[in-house]
Amino acid sequence: MLGMMQNWQLTCDKILTHAKVNHPDRFVVSRQLDGSITRTSYGEIYDRSRRLSSALIKRGIKLGDRVGTMAWNNARHMETWYGLMGFGAICHTLNPRLHPNQLKYIINHAGDRMFFLDLSFVPLLEAVQAELSSVQTYVLMCSRDQMPQTTLPNAVCFEDLLAEGDDDVVWGGFDENTACGLCYTSGTTGNPKGVLYSHRSNTLMAMTCAMPNMMGVSGTDTCLMVVPMFHANAWALTFTAPMVGMNLVMPGPMMDGASIYQLLDSEKCTVSAAVPTIWLMLLNYLEETGKKLPYLNEVLIGGSACPRAIMETFDKEYGVTVIHAWGMTETSPLGTAARVQPEIEDLPYEEQLSYRLKQGVPPYIVEMRIVDDAHNELPKDGRSSGHLLVRGPAVSNAYFGAENGSILDEDGWFNTGDVATIDPLGYMQITDRSKDVIKSGGEWISSIDLENAALGHPAAAECAVIGLPHPKWDERPLLIVQLKPGMEATPESFYEFLTGKIARWWMPDDVVFVEAIPHGPTGKISKLELRKTFKDYKLPTI
Ligand code: ADP
Repeated sequence: MLGMMQNWQLTCDKILTHAKVNHPDRFVVSRQLDGSITRTSYGEIYDRSRRLSSALIKRGIKLGDRVGTMAWNNARHMETWYGLMGFGAICHTLNPRLHPNQLKYIINHAGDRMFFLDLSFVPLLEAVQAELSSVQTYVLMCSRDQMPQTTLPNAVCFEDLLAEGDDDVVWGGFDENTACGLCYTSGTTGNPKGVLYSHRSNTLMAMTCAMPNMMGVSGTDTCLMVVPMFHANAWALTFTAPMVGMNLVMPGPMMDGASIYQLLDSEKCTVSAAVPTIWLMLLNYLEETGKKLPYLNEVLIGGSACPRAIMETFDKEYGVTVIHAWGMTETSPLGTAARVQPEIEDLPYEEQLSYRLKQGVPPYIVEMRIVDDAHNELPKDGRSSGHLLVRGPAVSNAYFGAENGSILDEDGWFNTGDVATIDPLGYMQITDRSKDVIKSGGEWISSIDLENAALGHPAAAECAVIGLPHPKWDERPLLIVQLKPGMEATPESFYEFLTGKIARWWMPDDVVFVEAIPHGPTGKISKLELRKTFKDYKLPTI
C-alpha cells in the first residue's frame, strides 16, 4: 500500500522559489573583481535567474544540456546556477586552478554547450577555446560597460543575455532524480571524473547541511561563503542559504586575511565555511592587527584536517566554535561533522577537543563503515583503522560518461580512498589516505601526474611524489628521484624541466635524490615506505 501524500518533487528550483515567496529581502552581498561590494536579495536573484532561464531556452539550451561556469562566488554565479538548474540544464562548475590541459579535457568530456566566465578567466579561456569542440557561446559575467575586447567566439555580455529573456518561463516539472550539477574531481589517479548531482541529492544535502547536527544554520544567520562554488558543490551552501533564508556574503576572488576580515566585520557574519588555509591567513591577520571577531559564532572547517592550533585559537582568543567536517565531491559533499554530542558534553576541554578534532559523526543520510583489505567490516573501537566506505542518497554511484559504470561494491558502498577509525561514539577519524594524492590549500595535486611529468627529465630513472605536512597549505609535494646510472642532475634542473608542464602551484617544494626508490610486493612504488623514510623531513618552504 502506498502512502497518500503529494508527489512533490524535490527539485532545486523550488528552493529559490521558496526564498522568493518567504524571505525575498534577505540579502546577498558580493565582492566584485575590482574589490567593490554589490548588494542584492533572494527576490532579485530569483527574478534574474528566471529571466536567464528564458534567455537560455530561447538560445536552444535544453533539459540535460551541460553549461560550464568558471567564476568566483558572486551573485551572477548564483543566478547562473539557478537559471540553468531551474529548467533542467546542468550547471557544470570548473575550477580555474586546473592546468589548461585538464580544463580542455573536462570541458570536452562534459560536452559543455555554453560557457559562463568571470572576466578574470578570459585569457585562460581564450588560450584553450580553439580546442573546445562543443562550446558555442561564451557569456562574460560582467555589466555592459565592463565588456572587454575578446577573441572568444560568440561572446555575449551576461546583462545582454539576460535582456533577451522574459518572465514567461516554467521552472521544474521534471523528475527529482534529473541531473542538476556537474563537478569534476581530480582527486584520484587518471583523468578527472565527473560527479553528477541530481536535484534530489542537492535538496537532501541542503537540508542536511542546515541540521543542528551539521552546520546548524537558520534565517537568523549571515554566512560568509568562502568555499568556492566551483569546488565540491560549495558544501551545499548555495542551496542551504536560500532554503533557510540565511543572508549570504560572497568574497569573490579576494580570500586573504584582511579581505575576509573586512566582510566578516562589515556584514556582521555569524557563520562561515572554508578550508584550513583560509582560516590560517585570517588568524595571522587578526594576530598582527589585534582585531577581534565580535559577530562570528561558528565556522565550518573541512577539505583537509583542521589543525589543533586553529581550533584552540578560535576557541580561546575569539570565542568562535570550529565545526570540523569531512566530505568529498562524491558525497555532495558533507559526510560528517564533529559537533559536541551529549556523551562528551561534560568532558574536560582537552578531552572534548580530541573528539572535536576528529572528522566527526555522519548525518542521517550518510551511512559509514570501515573495512580491511579483504572487505571485512572492522569494529568501531576507535583503534582499528580501515578503508572508509560510505552509502547514501547523496553519494555518487557512477561517474559522468565513464565506461566502467558503477563505482560501488556489491552492497552499494563507495570506497572513499580515505583510511579511518570510528570510535564507539561514532566519531570518524581520518588516519591516512589510500588514494595517491596530495591536498594543498584544499585543492588536489595528483602525485601520479607529477611523477609522470618529472619522469620526462632526461636524467630520471624513477620518480615518486609524496605529500609532506606544511603549516600553511596542509600538504606540499616532495619529489623523490632515482637517477639513471652515471647521470647527475640538480633540483633546479627539475624545476626548470617541469615549468610549463604542470600548474605552477603543483611545483614540488623540494627535490631529493635517492639511491633506489622502494617497491612493494606487487612492484608498485611503496609510498608507505617513502612516507616513513621522509617522516621527519622538513621542507625548505616551511
Ligand atoms: P572537499 O575538499 O570539498 O572535501 P574533495 O572531493 O576535493 O572535496 O576532497 C575530498 C577528500 O579531501 C577526502 O576524501 C579527504 O581525503 C580529504 N578531506 C576532506 N575533508 C577532510 C578533513 N576534514 N580532514 C581530512 N581530510 C579531509
